[in-house]
Amino acid sequence: MRHFIKPNVVISKCLGFAKCRYNGDIIIDYVVEKLKPFVNFIPVCPEVEIGLGVPREPLRLIWDKATLHLYQPATKKDFTHEMELFIERYLSSLSEIDGFILKYRSPSCGISGVKIYNGFHPDARATQGRGFFGRAVLERFNTKAIEDEGRLKNFTIRENFFTKLFTLASFRVTKKHQKIKELIRFHTINKLLFMAYSQVKLNELGRIVANYQKGHVDIVFSNYEKVLYQLLARMPTFKSWINVLLHAFGGISAQLNKKERAFFLNLIEEYRDERIPLSVLIKIIEGWAVRFGDSYLLEQTFLNPYPKELIEITDSGKGRNR
Ligand code: SF4
Repeated sequence: MRHFIKPNVVISKCLGFAKCRYNGDIIIDYVVEKLKPFVNFIPVCPEVEIGLGVPREPLRLIWDKATLHLYQPATKKDFTHEMELFIERYLSSLSEIDGFILKYRSPSCGISGVKIYNGFHPDARATQGRGFFGRAVLERFNTKAIEDEGRLKNFTIRENFFTKLFTLASFRVTKKHQKIKELIRFHTINKLLFMAYSQVKLNELGRIVANYQKGHVDIVFSNYEKVLYQLLARMPTFKSWINVLLHAFGGISAQLNKKERAFFLNLIEEYRDERIPLSVLIKIIEGWAVRFGDSYLLEQTFLNPYPKELIEITDSGKGRNR
């Protein structure tokens, strides 16, 4: 049974932690509630932190004279300066953070879909962008797992977010110990998962680990970390998952009979045609790994990249990553 390190995650406080929305509401989000036992949440409400009460008049983002303002139309007050001071102080104080879950569309917390009005006029037209706090988080922590609760309703995005989050938490602890033996193990058990992200970056990581004697331990870790962040920056595609499945299958196919081999290759075609989910194929590989006592495969994190209690295959209906 794999032991998972609890990731440290900054979260918008209104997502299940306090009634701090402008209208005094709290949002109970299903994904956040499921995550609570597995994550160290650090809740924050930027608008309350800058001294605004609950309830309060809503804020707006205004683009005016090449400057973005955080503005409260009802009071005609501009909170841009207060928010910038808070963001600087708060984000500089954070350490050992693995990810963020921020409130969708909020003018403060949002990382996407936030209305930005073109001028102070009440009827000004709006485009879409990022909130003040959300934008700063994306700029400063762009290597971490960052999502909003709206996007996490999509199965593929959620699965990628959980995978990245728990991988980063595991690396954070490995790095803290500064032991090459632990880095080699981290690399070994993540090989097939990393192959799904990028074969090129996996090879680069492999070279860093293989040449560990040529540099100081801290430099080896920091080089590894840099490439790991690059590797995790993009979601795996379904084609790269097929590559991983064929690789894992190749290691055990000699022990399978002809019908079993044909059955699996046929399922890969069904996955390619979007008729079955990836999890079906992964479970078959895991079943064969158990049957043949394949310890290398059984240790691979791609079989269980995050706690199984978080697996939920429902989806907002958006498609797979190509
Ligand atoms: S979205 Fe952000 S600023 Fe708004 S209530 Fe939630 S935590 Fe506070």
